[in-house]
This record gives sequence, structure tokens and C-alpha cells, in this order.
Amino acid sequence: MRGKSALITGSTSGIGLAIARAMARAGARVALNGFGDASAIEEARASIERDFGVEAIYLAADVGKADDVMRMVRAAEEALFGVDVLVNNAGIQFVATVEEFPVDKWDAILATNLSAAFYAIHHALPGMKRRGWGRIVNIASAHGLVASAKKAAYVAAKHGTVGLTKVVGLEAAGSGVTCNAICPGWVLTPLVQRQIDDLAARAGVSNEEAERRLLAEKQPSQQFVTTDQIAELALFLCSDAAAQITGAALPIDGGWTAQ
Ligand code: NAD
Repeated sequence: MRGKSALITGSTSGIGLAIARAMARAGARVALNGFGDASAIEEARASIERDFGVEAIYLAADVGKADDVMRMVRAAEEALFGVDVLVNNAGIQFVATVEEFPVDKWDAILATNLSAAFYAIHHALPGMKRRGWGRIVNIASAHGLVASAKKAAYVAAKHGTVGLTKVVGLEAAGSGVTCNAICPGWVLTPLVQRQIDDLAARAGVSNEEAERRLLAEKQPSQQFVTTDQIAELALFLCSDAAAQITGAALPIDGGWTAQ
């Protein structure tokens, strides 16, 4: 990855931060993005430069807003000499039945988890095609392949992400640019910890018992996928060995979607 630049959305936490660190470890310049406490973000950025000796920048943008994303991609291209790798990772969750689902939550999830990827690809793909090389990795979900109750917006957005991935894979085929989706099962990040906290409170059980029940319901391995395992898969998709993998949706889910 030396000499390459990677823009990873939602990389101030969880899966995105692990992917950014893996890209940097492999030698790429990285652009971080996401919300959070300014000093924690600066520490994440500085630690990448310190640990891996590559340039790391932070670009503030709400990826649910088309103009923000356009500015973010342009800024990454200018500061890092192009965007060779784009990882669309930012995502949010909200859980309620479809009758009770607030419209503003629906809109926010569709914007952050689906439209954001379109906006970023729209702006980053021309440069990749011009340079004859690019890797687009969309972090979808097991919920891009199968559904669960009470997740209408998330499941719709993630299925949409898988569809978008296929179209971009087709349109870019043969250009040196690939586009793939990674579909993780449960990963223990703040996004999932909130669901564990809700389950523990609802059922009146401990955090450990809530984790066990969450896994038992969906993930046959009974183990969380780790952020590092996802980061390694993203890195593999950037390798020459993965040049003919495109338009694919790759589960990494302890058997969830094999059922
Ligand atoms: P997380 O909450 O740890 O991280 C989400 C990141 O997205 C944060 O950096 C946050 O600041 C950023 N973000 C949220 N809204 C944003 C916005 N509007 N603009 C810019 N940044 C924004 O969650 P995570 O679990 O690491 O999730 C990362 C991705 O992985 C998401 O797309 C999520 O749907 C997907 N995913 C997670 C799991 C899981 O079990 N944790 C499973 C499958 C898929």
C-alpha cells in the first residue's frame, strides 16, 4: 500500500479505526473521518503517524450530507495526492418496529448508511479510473444479506449498499477499480454495545448474559467478529490477489448467513 492513499469514513471508532490503522500499517497515507471528541480524534490521528510513520489527516464531514462528502473527497485528493482506496464505513443504527419507526431516524440511517456511499463513490471514482487503479470497500452487514425484525431502515440501507456495490463493480469492471462489500456479523463496537445495553436492561440480565443471548440468536460461532479481522479482509481486497473480486458481498459473520 506504500504510495497509496486511503479515505475511510467513520474511522474515529470501531471498525473504521481498525481499517485505517491496518491501511497505515501497510504503508498507505490515510484520511480519517467521523464524529467524536476533538482531542480523542487528534490522538487517533497522531498515533497512526507515530506508530506507522505515514501521513494521517482528519477530515470533518457529516457523510449524510452530499456537499460535505464532496468537500471531503476533494480535500483528501488534494492533501493525499488522490484517493486510491475508499472505505465507506460510517454507519448508525436504530431499533423499532416499522409502525413505530420515527421518520427522522429512517431518513438519517438511509443518508448515513447508504446515500453517503453513493456520494463518496460518485466523487472518488473518476480519479481512480483516471489513474487506472482503485479499491472501493463498502462496509455493509449480514443485514445486507438477510433481515432481522425491528431494523427496517438498517436492513433496507445495507441491502441497498450491496446493490450499489454490484452496480459500481459492473460499471468499473476492467478499469483497474474494484468495488466490494464486506458483510460483518456481530462485532463488539460501540454500535453493538448500545444494543447489548438495551437487551441487558430489558431482560434484567448482566452484560455477559446479554452478549451471550445476542450471539446465540444469530451467530453460530458464538464469538464476536473482531475489528482486526474485518480490517485484514479490507486489506486483502486492496491486494493484487483480489483484483478479480468485484461486485461481491463477502460475509464475515461466524456462520450467521449460512443458516
Ligand atoms: P461505531 O459506532 O463504533 O462507529 C461508527 C463510526 O461512524 C464512528 O466513527 C462515527 O463517528 C461515524 N459516523 C456516524 N455517523 C456519521 C456521519 N453522519 N458522518 C460521519 N461519520 C459518522 O460502529 P461500528 O460498529 O464500527 O460500525 C462501522 C460500520 O460497520 C457501520 O456501517 C455498521 O453498520 C457496520 N457494521 C457493524 C457491525 C457490528 O456488529 N458492529 C456489524 C455489521 C456492520
